[in-house]
Amino acid sequence: MSTYTLSFAHLYGDLMNTYGDYGNFIAFNYYAKKIGVQTEYHLVSLDDKFDAEAFDFALFGGGQDYEESIVAEDLKYKVDDIKDYIENNGPLLAICGGFQLLGHYIEMADGSKVDGISVMDHYTTNMYQDNLTVLKGQRLTGNIVIKNNDTHEEYHGFENHQGRTFLGKDERALGTVISGNGNNGMDKTEGVIYKNVYGSYFHGPIFTRNGNLAKRLLVTSLERKYPGIDWHSQLEAIETESF
Ligand code: GLN
Repeated sequence: MSTYTLSFAHLYGDLMNTYGDYGNFIAFNYYAKKIGVQTEYHLVSLDDKFDAEAFDFALFGGGQDYEESIVAEDLKYKVDDIKDYIENNGPLLAICGGFQLLGHYIEMADGSKVDGISVMDHYTTNMYQDNLTVLKGQRLTGNIVIKNNDTHEEYHGFENHQGRTFLGKDERALGTVISGNGNNGMDKTEGVIYKNVYGSYFHGPIFTRNGNLAKRLLVTSLERKYPGIDWHSQLEAIETESF
């Protein structure tokens, strides 16, 4: 029996799981098991309490506009706990709709505006400027490659979103777009890093295609829960997979 256990929260995993975002847990779990770390999975959905103290890693996946607006209503009751978790350096992977909902607001494809929970400073519009024309509604879809500005690692994924996200204060991009659209198709940013929150438009899922990122979040989660152990070297020794 392992002495080390990480507890996962899957935020709204029954509603927000576009293109198998759950696969991020499978990849995370794969590397955890390789170094003898146990994992526990908890679905945290509508009407459930998100206990900020109870979790070592959280995933908030993508969804369609309809599901996103249902989740937005429920998030009003979880906002304080999610904020505590983030501000206490809780590791969180937020994909697409999940990423959008952590910011201030989202303009949906039909023009309606849904409030996010403003625990991060980005916002999402449904239009963009192309030369001098304001365009609405086109989806940003296709394969995407970005480069992380700290590690210079390349990440590969698939994006399919209508929302255009613009980063705010204290937020930096997960990477610079090499090919594809990214957060808004204009400023070459893709995703976000804020404290230990990693947001992205990448499906794929991002951790299965980019094992180096899965390992990075795993090290972050382990160092936070079990400091003083060289988790980094243990994971370095495990081959990085692309599933
Ligand atoms: N509904 C949102 C959009 O299209 C998010 C899509 C997603 O999560 N894949 O912008």
